[in-house]
Amino acid sequence: MRAALKKKLHQELLARRKELTAAFKRTKETNRRSDDGPLDLADTATELYTQEFNFSLTEKDRGVLKLIAGALDRLELNEYDECEECGEKISEPRLKAIPWAPLCIECQAEKEAVARVESS
Ligand SMILES: [Zn+2]
Repeated sequence: MRAALKKKLHQELLARRKELTAAFKRTKETNRRSDDGPLDLADTATELYTQEFNFSLTEKDRGVLKLIAGALDRLELNEYDECEECGEKISEPRLKAIPWAPLCIECQAEKEAVARVESS
């Protein structure tokens, strides 16, 4: 992989991580605010909705944060574009689309197929 592309993807990973961490902090602040004294019913409903929305966002994004941490580790080790499963190179278009992808497209497809079988 070209150094310039690697650098670009590295920056994308850092930017995405910053974005997610900021969203996570906002959620915590929202939760803290709801502890401040009584709210009337309308406010409570809005507050609950906001919390639920933020929570599902972080729940989903927590996985991405983990993958980003893994990708940053692999960058350090110079194994960034190697598939965690089979060790083959992950294609550049795939990494450009998902800079934190830990698996090549074949292993990812296989993993999803297994997950589908297990959940059915
Ligand atoms: Zn693979």
